[in-house]
Amino acid sequence: MNNRQLFLRHVAQLSDAPMALEINKAAGMYMWDADGKKIMDLIAGISVCNVGHSHPAVVNAIKEQAEQYMHLLVYGELIQTPQVGFATLLTQHLPASLNSVYFTNSGAEAVEGAMKLAKRYTGRTQILAFEKSYHGSTQGAMSIMGDETWRNAYRPLLPDIQHLQYNNWEAIDHITDRTACIILETVQAEAGVRPPQKEWLQAIREKCTATGTLMVLDEIQCGLGRNGTLWAFEQADVVPDILLLGKALGGGMPMGAFIADREIMWVLTNNPVLGHMTTFGGHPVICAAGMAGFKVLLEEDLVSGVNAKGQLFHQYLQHPAIKAVRSLGLMMAVEFESFAMNKKVIDRCIEKGLLTDWFLFAPECLRIAPPLIISEEEISKACSIILEALDEIIKEA
Ligand code: PLP
Repeated sequence: MNNRQLFLRHVAQLSDAPMALEINKAAGMYMWDADGKKIMDLIAGISVCNVGHSHPAVVNAIKEQAEQYMHLLVYGELIQTPQVGFATLLTQHLPASLNSVYFTNSGAEAVEGAMKLAKRYTGRTQILAFEKSYHGSTQGAMSIMGDETWRNAYRPLLPDIQHLQYNNWEAIDHITDRTACIILETVQAEAGVRPPQKEWLQAIREKCTATGTLMVLDEIQCGLGRNGTLWAFEQADVVPDILLLGKALGGGMPMGAFIADREIMWVLTNNPVLGHMTTFGGHPVICAAGMAGFKVLLEEDLVSGVNAKGQLFHQYLQHPAIKAVRSLGLMMAVEFESFAMNKKVIDRCIEKGLLTDWFLFAPECLRIAPPLIISEEEISKACSIILEALDEIIKEA
């Protein structure tokens, strides 16, 4: 059997039509398949490889830390230099109230931790979330997922959860002194890139403060520069009580984090002790990789170029079949009339050596979320491929 057959037989499948490209190598903006074909990556492992694939600084950090030590003991007991170093570096680049970092293995685990933390800290149970939001696939994260089709397939889920409309002012009335937390993506990603109204986010912040509700911002997909600033909440002049990070946080390695004030985080420490446990969260090799990736982001000043690069995509992506291009920084959704049309464009792009896909709750939209290192020439090339694919498909119809 060849690798493709073994993949289909022995690796758990999530759809009956996986891309099933066999990748042998990836570096920077590119992947190479088993036949040596070069593929430009327009989605960065879904907003993971912000500094590009296998950045040498990240690879070296992994090698050096693996030679020093790998797993030592479960989370929270030993002082491990990469963990301390990364938590310190992150908090140096966050508002003063976000000073305590709990490292997890994934974004969904960060979401789980934040929900537990909010319930313990407030002594309340109600959690507010939003339609068309995606926060992960574990039971708690799925309970707040903004789509009934997925939720309904896995009931019973967590109780006392209410879903509201994003960017809707009436949603704010639902925040009361019964609410433990409100969880929202600072920019809704899987909804097809929906940024928030600044005043709306500020009003949520005010109502949370007035009612003692914790404001949890999920920047797992939009954070770490992708939105055009280091953190998306900066753009609305708000500070969340709990910040969720993941995806790009590990520099290409698996990692998430929930970050809060020490005073809030403290409730995981007592009555009972060990309020949130993980064996591998904060793994030293992953922390070393994450810290190296974060330093690249800062030292190569990747964030400052993000908005101009996003604008360049807008400039090039002009076509009668494109209904809209929504974006914030280098998170972009190119909208077509239907999923069928979008799928044809995506497949044709892949044939032409450009990897892209669609959004969970906006299947008619093509995803653009490249490594932040993408050059102007590469943007031009990627857009020509998309437009060429579109022209061919329309001609063939
Ligand atoms: N939150 C957001 C906004 C996400 O986009 C994702 C993943 O796509 C998650 C949470 C879950 O992260 P993970 O897949 O690492 O569990």
